[in-house]
Amino acid sequence: MDSKACKRWHRPCLSIAMKKSFITVLAFMVLGPNANAGGICHDLPLNESIRVNHSFLGSKTIHQKYTLVRSEEKTYDVYLNLKFKPSKGFKKEMALSFGGLDDQTINGILNKFYPEKMESCFREYESSLADELGRKIRLHIYNEAVHKTIVKPPQVRISIKDSEFRSHSKAYNMSSDCPTLIHEALHLLGLVDEYVEKWQGFSHKFSSLILRPLRPVNENVLPAFDCRAIGPDNSAMANPSAVQYTRSLFSGHINAVIYPNCVKKNEKYFGCAKFWAKTSHKNNGAIPNISDCTEKVPDYCKDESWVMIDELDSK
Ligand SMILES: [Zn+2]
Repeated sequence: MDSKACKRWHRPCLSIAMKKSFITVLAFMVLGPNANAGGICHDLPLNESIRVNHSFLGSKTIHQKYTLVRSEEKTYDVYLNLKFKPSKGFKKEMALSFGGLDDQTINGILNKFYPEKMESCFREYESSLADELGRKIRLHIYNEAVHKTIVKPPQVRISIKDSEFRSHSKAYNMSSDCPTLIHEALHLLGLVDEYVEKWQGFSHKFSSLILRPLRPVNENVLPAFDCRAIGPDNSAMANPSAVQYTRSLFSGHINAVIYPNCVKKNEKYFGCAKFWAKTSHKNNGAIPNISDCTEKVPDYCKDESWVMIDELDSK
């Protein structure tokens, strides 16, 4: 905050250090003892684990909800605790194929089918979740009966939607393929979308959808989220099919996962990632943003190398 802004708000200016410690205390109060509010900036010792339960302040759209175990020098196991629930649309489609099923039966089917399917997807594309430094993450669906020595990760509820639905991190289209399921799982590790949005008014919020209905982009309709930093084509977050390549992650991604909420290790990545769902005045249609994101996006976010660490992120 500069001196002008301090005067405007009629309150004393806080030093940057004071502001940081205030935010840390506030984060701890809001998010609880597992929030890693101060951030994990050190290398996890071999075979040690941390439970990560963190939502970025001011933006509920970036979450980190997992247990991280450093299993080998450059290999990290990441456990997700997912609970699947059917949506109305899914139940309707199920009823058409199988007749009416009670909720308990559907819940049982979903919570057996999706963990097994996701585990099989994770194993099939396991080698691809690596960065240019040779660091790897191995995804797992947490199973209390099997993973007895693993600290229980925070639970995330996933709604299973009908076959027309566009999947996001907490709601999956019932017909999602492996690349999509892996991409959505990576969102729960704090990684954001890096592709160019093809729709205007796209939003996961019901209220926004009423005010800004979905419209496919054409020469007169500009896409939403145009302040998003775009990643390389061979990144799983820019292109889910990239998990079929030898390598589909970059050092910025892996740093974000293994140093959760550590500002100094992730300065560049989160400096760009925070704009993933921001739309400029020009593209926003009926409801302009209060302040234009185009003026705030740092220049380094405009180069796809933003997903790679550099001197900005202290080693
Ligand atoms: Zn996504």
